[in-house]
Amino acid sequence: SSNRHPELLEGLDPEQRAAACAPRGPVCVLAGAGTGKTRTITHRIAYLVRSGHVSAGQVLAVTFTSRAAGELRTRLRGLGVEAAQARTFHAAALRQLRYFWPRVVGERQWDLIDGNKLRLVGQAANRLGLSTEVEVLRDLTSEIEWAKASLVSPDDYPAVVARLKRDTPEPAERIAELYRGYEQTKNEAQLLDFDDLLLHTTAALEEHRAVADEFRERYRCFVVDEYQDVTPAQQRLLDAWLGGRDDLTVVGDANQTIYSFGGASPRPLLEFTRRFPEATVVRLERDYRSTPQVVSLANRVIGAARGRPAGSRLELVGQRPEGPEPRFAEYDDEPAEASAVAARIRGLLDDGIAASEIAVLYRVNAQSEAYEQALSEAGVPYLVRGGERFFQRQEIRQAIAALRTAAADEPRGELVALCRRVLARVGLTEQPPAGGAARERWDALLALVEVAEELASTVEGASLGRLVTELEQRAAAQHPPTVEGVTLASLHAAKGLEWDAVFLVGLADGTVPIQRADGDDEAVEEERRLFYVGVTRAREHLSLSWALSRHPDGRRNRRRSRFLYGLVPEDHPAARVAKSGQQTKFANSCRICARPLISTMEVKLGRCTKCPADVDEHLLGRLKEWRTERARELNVPAFVVFTDSTLVAIAEQRPTDSKALVG
Ligand code: ATP
Ligand code: MG
Repeated sequence: SSNRHPELLEGLDPEQRAAACAPRGPVCVLAGAGTGKTRTITHRIAYLVRSGHVSAGQVLAVTFTSRAAGELRTRLRGLGVEAAQARTFHAAALRQLRYFWPRVVGERQWDLIDGNKLRLVGQAANRLGLSTEVEVLRDLTSEIEWAKASLVSPDDYPAVVARLKRDTPEPAERIAELYRGYEQTKNEAQLLDFDDLLLHTTAALEEHRAVADEFRERYRCFVVDEYQDVTPAQQRLLDAWLGGRDDLTVVGDANQTIYSFGGASPRPLLEFTRRFPEATVVRLERDYRSTPQVVSLANRVIGAARGRPAGSRLELVGQRPEGPEPRFAEYDDEPAEASAVAARIRGLLDDGIAASEIAVLYRVNAQSEAYEQALSEAGVPYLVRGGERFFQRQEIRQAIAALRTAAADEPRGELVALCRRVLARVGLTEQPPAGGAARERWDALLALVEVAEELASTVEGASLGRLVTELEQRAAAQHPPTVEGVTLASLHAAKGLEWDAVFLVGLADGTVPIQRADGDDEAVEEERRLFYVGVTRAREHLSLSWALSRHPDGRRNRRRSRFLYGLVPEDHPAARVAKSGQQTKFANSCRICARPLISTMEVKLGRCTKCPADVDEHLLGRLKEWRTERARELNVPAFVVFTDSTLVAIAEQRPTDSKALVG
């Protein structure tokens, strides 16, 4: 009973506890962001294990992103049940398939497609005389992915899309043909794609009695986090795992469904009790993650959503102490936005917030570049979360190759020391380089050493060969190691995670919501949910920013995201601009000293002629912050004239004669 393990249930509120220590059998937690769903399931696993209902090895917990799976593992380790498996659906399927494959298919070898899927689709398109333009291929590839995730075969595809009135990038018959061609090309090359992992594993369990029996003997308790984003293919795999049993705990939030474009649906979550009428159902509404300021903003974001399913309309109630108001900021162009964000991050780091507690989140991965550059320039360590990217980095590929070669010599030596010695040859110096790209490469290499450390501490006498296997598995499962640094991630990749400070950047219409969603109400609503996911990642500091043009000399033809209307405070300059219907207004003050610009020359330069041209962006960011603070302190409008000596003083962090500075 729960009384036997009070410490496990201590950190839970009564509703969370009800879910965590419900008897074995179906349990469903329907609740908003930050209410402790993930916490509840980890405690439930620990509770079931500690009270002897199941052994840790019989538990399989699944979620949707590798980072979230990593987070689950960390929390499980913290609760002393590290033997419970926590993986993404794909990683779990990959593992099972590797194990069962010889029995199911025999000797035939196969490889995972390592990110070169587009080429295969391209080959198939070429054969059919379809366009092989990258943009078109991308659309066609996602359409094939949608079909596979939705369990729609090439033969059925045209009828299904007709029934769903689905917009297709090419006529349905052509796509069906391409889909067929792609499957054939892939099979001939003995390759599997990500979706195949799920489909083949499901088939192995459904069609091979012995495989199913062995599997079901081994795994008895299933837990799914983020269940609102389950696809038909994943659901079918889950059903194959269960094999008619009902020891299943699911948690999710229909307001965070962000993969329906890929075939996911919150239906199984919302209809869970229809399937399991005896299920324990728990709803949570206390938000433990974010300050009331962030919670209030989140409630307003999702409150504006249309067509929310019944049961998802709970308002979150913030539990944490008050924090700073979310910040809204508009910039002339993207580089200006990026350097301001970098400067602000520098400030947070100087205030003692850890880099790993800060994230910059954007809609599409291409947006990361400006931030990588700005952060490098500001000397801030960062890590791009894009899953496979880590393993595609040149130095990581070289490093793994070097480790593989070294492993072949079978040196046996202590793993971590061996690993360091090998990596020294590919650039892991004793001391980290000062910054920039070199530092980033160094951090990435160091992350491999950390994997070695982790392995050495969990596997007795682990060898270099074992490390290489571990790294290969992680690469296949898109599970990059953690690097200490500011996280750069897409909104999709941020699901389920949290940081003290979150910067939601690039919030311009056309990016959030993304242009292709325009005119499609459901797609726009999904974009809104994505925005909601972003807002709810922040514990305390939340910054929302956008830029009016892409390039410094480009036309200022962008507008802030439509999702921001009603959220930006009335007295915010951006709100005033929106009202007056003007689009640009901001190049009229000096970017350095904030004085009004007078001549066209000054406007062109973006600074007044009194200010030096070569102020570095980091300093500039500091200066701007300092200026506002100082102005507040002195109770004057934020117009501070600065001189070269101020700059020097700020660089050296010594006080200046503030009176001389106020204009
Ligand atoms: P999301 O929908 O974003 O995945 P979630 O519902 O899974 O959110 P968690 O990540 O489990 O939420 O919890 C959010 C934060 O609140 C975590 O830092 C967690 O440790 C904390 N938390 C959860 N429940 C409690 C509680 N009862 N007391 C104190 N802190 C809690
Ligand atoms: Mg969660």
